[in-house]
Amino acid sequence: MTAQLHPTHLLWLVAFQMALHALVWVGAGLLLRESRRAVAHWAVFLLLMGAGLMLAAQRGDPRLWLHFNGANLVTIVAFALMRRGTESFMGLPRHDAEQLAVLTPVVALIALAGPGESTAPLRVVAAYLAQAFIMLRTMGTIHRALRQEFGRTEMLAVVVSGSAIAVSLVLLAAHQVVTWPRPAEMQTGGPVNFWLMVVYLAGSSLFSFMFMVMLTQRLVAHLRRASVRDPLTGLYNRRAIAEALERQWLRHRRGQQPLAVLLIDIDDFKRINDTLGHAAGDSVLMHLSSLLQRHVRAEDIVGRMGGEEFLLVLPDTLSAQALSLAERLRALVRAEALGTTISIGIALARADDEQAESVVARADAALYRAKEGGRNRIELDA
Ligand code: GH3
Ligand code: MG
Ligand code: MG
Repeated sequence: MTAQLHPTHLLWLVAFQMALHALVWVGAGLLLRESRRAVAHWAVFLLLMGAGLMLAAQRGDPRLWLHFNGANLVTIVAFALMRRGTESFMGLPRHDAEQLAVLTPVVALIALAGPGESTAPLRVVAAYLAQAFIMLRTMGTIHRALRQEFGRTEMLAVVVSGSAIAVSLVLLAAHQVVTWPRPAEMQTGGPVNFWLMVVYLAGSSLFSFMFMVMLTQRLVAHLRRASVRDPLTGLYNRRAIAEALERQWLRHRRGQQPLAVLLIDIDDFKRINDTLGHAAGDSVLMHLSSLLQRHVRAEDIVGRMGGEEFLLVLPDTLSAQALSLAERLRALVRAEALGTTISIGIALARADDEQAESVVARADAALYRAKEGGRNRIELDA
């Protein structure tokens, strides 16, 4: 005796797999706490897909509305949520109005068609075309943002898979048109419906896998940024600027190119905090940071050492150039009326420097002299 695989067994199997993927997304939402709106949408999307397939798996005699029309409607709603979640994941505006306008007539048609065999081909075509439409529109709205955030490979992987699914759905609809009036509903089995199950199975696996990878990439990018950037100013933090200095210093040692550093400290900053409040102090720090970034060359590196102290690493820079940049910055800070002035210590890498920090130590000594000399001044390490 050979075991027979009934078409509905396949439906149960795929439904079960979708439910599992939904659980994975619920877990991801709870554990990763990243892009949670999108993740919640995807969990419900996969759950509804599973529910739709489970309803379809129970189709039989008598033909119940819930098992026929209900199953169609649930999968369309699932696809609509998939699009909503995916656009939210990419930070794109919602297209609820468009989805409502296009899908309401389709949903009404399927809801009112009745579960009978005579209207089955109409429901099948309407359901597949609605799904294909949503899939294609999703690909259309997300591909640019996908490429921007994750790159070409990720964008192509998503768009090619999504479009393949949409094309399959259109072909299935075309097949139903050709075989009209014989219903090609998914519980009836046969090679065409076997193909539909393959598309759903592969589609949901690919979907979950690809977006889980992208969610992880996004997390890694956030963490990487957080580990090198100062949260208030967005400048390199102390560790990152020290690493950048080290790289430039090694380069200087190898090639003998000049290397200069500027240590900048806001004058009487404590007074700003004390008189105007901490928020005003923060705002001065942000303004100064943006000023520094705007007025250095692309190859210069700006970092916040801590408090109100900033380090500029200037590759291929001689003392005269460093001095003129420092003078320009000092004048700009005064001109922009940040309510404060800055003092700057300048040092250049020397052949007898044992390590990169020696250069900063000499800039710090120069800065100290600038403060001693009355502030709003520049001192160059002799
Ligand atoms: P000097 O001219 O000698 O540099 O005097 P100063 O007041 O600028 O220097 P001091 O080191 O005495 O004070 C620095 C102040 O910077 C003290 C601290 O509360 C404040 N500060 C450090 N980090 C931050 C920050 O992130 N935001 C704000 N608003 N204030 C900060
Ligand atoms: Mg200060
Ligand atoms: Mg200071």
